[in-house]
Amino acid sequence: MATGTLRVVEVTFFGTRGSCPCSGDAYQRYGGNTPSVLVRTGDQLIVLDLGTGLRALGAHVSSDHPAGGPPVRATALLTHLHFDHIIGLPFFGPLRHHDSVFDVYGPRQPDGTLDGALREIVRPPFFPVRLDTLLGALRFHDLDDGDHLAIGDAKVRARTIRHPGATLGYRIEADGHSMVYIPDHQQIGADEPDEDGALELCEGADLLVHDAQYTDFELVHKRKWGHSTVEYAVALAVRAGVGHLVLFHHDPSHDDRQLDAMLERAKELAWPSGLRVTSAAEGETVVPGAG
Ligand SMILES: [Zn+2]
Ligand SMILES: [Zn+2]
Repeated sequence: MATGTLRVVEVTFFGTRGSCPCSGDAYQRYGGNTPSVLVRTGDQLIVLDLGTGLRALGAHVSSDHPAGGPPVRATALLTHLHFDHIIGLPFFGPLRHHDSVFDVYGPRQPDGTLDGALREIVRPPFFPVRLDTLLGALRFHDLDDGDHLAIGDAKVRARTIRHPGATLGYRIEADGHSMVYIPDHQQIGADEPDEDGALELCEGADLLVHDAQYTDFELVHKRKWGHSTVEYAVALAVRAGVGHLVLFHHDPSHDDRQLDAMLERAKELAWPSGLRVTSAAEGETVVPGAG
């Protein structure tokens, strides 16, 4: 629990949308940027995924000034390489400063390194410049299922998550609080074995940010598309004894009113267990272990 007014772990959403960015009046409240989340713990900046939300996240921790802002030292935990989770990388403003350092951890690729895969995407003709023309130090680190790492005083554990391509979920523990980030997770049928690391990561977590892209009806048509329903997210959170579930990776076809309805459905399902449920909105900050 945070002491007094000092927030020792804060989670701020800069991108909450899955699959494809969207804009317009219908997306005002939950936002249209793809996944990027800032976790502040002590003096550490931990970035979860590098979607289009990373541009505003960079401006928030540094500056949007055309001449650039102060340098930043940050660590990213990347879940996987789908476009919606990486496309913000070259727009991370702090990398325009010589003294910035950005360490990016992510899943080892079956046919090469994380470094090699991302440098293949951020280059002409897909993008006007190459990653190595950015001025700050950008360093990539490959992770495997079950790996641990420390970021300052925060302890991080990575587990493989069921989703097309090499995909990780993360648990972060700092100052007696725990949060889990699983933005993309293909749910299983009732008769299928639960063979990935999601349940172990979630066990007793204060906060779980989880894929809740589909309704039950949509899943009938999209069973193998790599995502979860609201019902599945709630069931996993209840089973793992999570305190607060945040619905995440909103479908681009869902406007604010539909997301309100999905949140109400989730609250109904969660009510008997006492699980708190909210739905991620761009610009919102939540504190693991608070209320
Ligand atoms: Zn995604
Ligand atoms: Zn994905």
